[in-house]
Amino acid sequence: MSYKKEEVKCPKCGKKIRVKVYTKLDETQVTDIINRDIFAAKCPKCGEKTYIDYIVDLETPTYYLYYTPGYNKSKKKIKGKTTRVCDTYDDFKEKILIFEEGLNDILIEFIKQYIKMELKHDDLSELRDVRFDSIINDDIIFTLVGLKKNVAIKKDFYKAMEDKSIFKNPIRAIVLDNSNYWKYQKMK
Ligand SMILES: [Zn+2]
Repeated sequence: MSYKKEEVKCPKCGKKIRVKVYTKLDETQVTDIINRDIFAAKCPKCGEKTYIDYIVDLETPTYYLYYTPGYNKSKKKIKGKTTRVCDTYDDFKEKILIFEEGLNDILIEFIKQYIKMELKHDDLSELRDVRFDSIINDDIIFTLVGLKKNVAIKKDFYKAMEDKSIFKNPIRAIVLDNSNYWKYQKMK
């Protein structure tokens, strides 16, 4: 959990703000990443809250994420851990939520595609993205971004799809999303 102090300019009043820039993140910081506090800085002069983005890795006992905002490049896999690259904050947050629940992100992308196929035409034109949100009881909750709606998928459906699937892990750590998940999953 080592960090260095850096200075950024307040976007509102221009005052220099000292911020903590971590060189590596660990599992004790997961909550602060999800609520984005870890990337937040508050100006001591005008009170403006600003977010800073920088390249940083997150290592937990089961997964390893390379957070590379704005850059989509493959990286080396970490042995024994699910390893991914996340090139936006929303991706980074979503992967953490998925892996903290012990879910398979390849299958989650498959289910998102299924959700899209079930949507009505009008809804589809408004839809900007589908994001994993949480697990509540027997339901896996997804947010339909742009529609301000949630969708619940039964855990049983997830398990049935998991049983029917064969997964292939990417050779390197990559951004794994709706554009490429299908390369790593096929039906038995
Ligand atoms: Zn300020």
